[in-house]
Amino acid sequence: MKSIRLRDGKERSLQRRHPWVFEGSIARGSADAGELVRVEAHDGRFLAWGAYSPSSMIRVRAWSFVETERIDAAFFQVRLQRAVRLRSRLAIASDGQRLVHGEADGLPGLIVDRYGDVLSAQFLSAGAERWRETIADALLQITGLQRLYERSDASVRALEGLAERTGWLRGEGPTDVTIQEHGWALGLDVALGHKTGYYLDQRDNRKRFADLVRQFGCQSVLNCYSYTGGFSVAALAGGATEVVSVDSSAPALAQARDNLRRNGFDDSRCGFVDADVNATLRELIAAGRSFDAIVLDPPKFAPTAAHAERAARAYKDINRLALRLLAPGGLLLTFSCSGGVNADLFHKIVAGAGIDAGVNAAILQRLEGARDHPTTIEFPEGEYLKGLALLKQ
Ligand code: SAH
Repeated sequence: MKSIRLRDGKERSLQRRHPWVFEGSIARGSADAGELVRVEAHDGRFLAWGAYSPSSMIRVRAWSFVETERIDAAFFQVRLQRAVRLRSRLAIASDGQRLVHGEADGLPGLIVDRYGDVLSAQFLSAGAERWRETIADALLQITGLQRLYERSDASVRALEGLAERTGWLRGEGPTDVTIQEHGWALGLDVALGHKTGYYLDQRDNRKRFADLVRQFGCQSVLNCYSYTGGFSVAALAGGATEVVSVDSSAPALAQARDNLRRNGFDDSRCGFVDADVNATLRELIAAGRSFDAIVLDPPKFAPTAAHAERAARAYKDINRLALRLLAPGGLLLTFSCSGGVNADLFHKIVAGAGIDAGVNAAILQRLEGARDHPTTIEFPEGEYLKGLALLKQ
């Protein structure tokens, strides 16, 4: 068993059960990609079992902080079972669920989503990659499902020195799947969709949006960064009569239109705009349009805190434009999924946008990701999705 010896004073974070060891904390020791290592303090005391990743800044990701625990197939079986059992207790109103959320489930680098009877997984760290076959077998055994699609094509794989890989890892068949979210039928494709196929983290906020649209009687809705139209379906379910979905992905918009139709909504008053949101917001303002409700759910503008400043300007810009475009008394749902922008900073950015737009707004609700994307007390970095439901005054 190879050991990784930390520098004096660098043991605190592992002692607090934070699962990452950065390159700069290591005094000596190395191993192969994904290999199991014993991480020890400067004096040789045990701190954690982890997976070594020779080319990543995050050089070790901890599997366990318990010295007597063995990291083997049974270990992964137990961790995966624990993750799946947690979901079964969360009363999730969908058969689209995140079953494994990486570090928050004690499985760094592993993402597993369930879409109906298909699993879609990402192996994003050298350690998760090393145990890929074991994990795949255990997932089928625990869920009783037969099909697992691999979407290891996220850019973070490159930081781990891993090539991209996609395709059926277990089973085979069509990659288009329909899930039932809050009773809405939503089509997605695990091979062609973003990430593992869909944005499950917004599930609760889509339902909340439907409820708010109904409560405030919103008729016209602008869904910015719509992807496959989850918030658009929610708006129509809430009684909206006109929904414009804007996204820069044509396939996503085609799926959005299909999703509206398959739920029986009349799409004759629905627009699908394949364009940049910022430019579209400016055009709509110039055309004198206004909307009763707007959703802003942009992609990650700031992957890390280093990008926060530029991202802040981009967030402020779209929020300022959306607040202007909103009818008086209108509803804005605005989000950031940037790990580098925390909730406090995001609120300040939106406040700044309101001042620039000359608009006052009341905070109806503070929003976060769905609970099958948990944040643990040891790993607050896992928290990434934050949002506000605002009412323009
Ligand atoms: N709200 C969606 C998820 C949005 S993900 C849901 O509930 O499922 C972000 C989306 O923004 C992606 O679909 C991506 O195609 C789109 N996107 C990224 N940059 C864009 C831009 N500049 N203009 C318009 N859409 C953009």
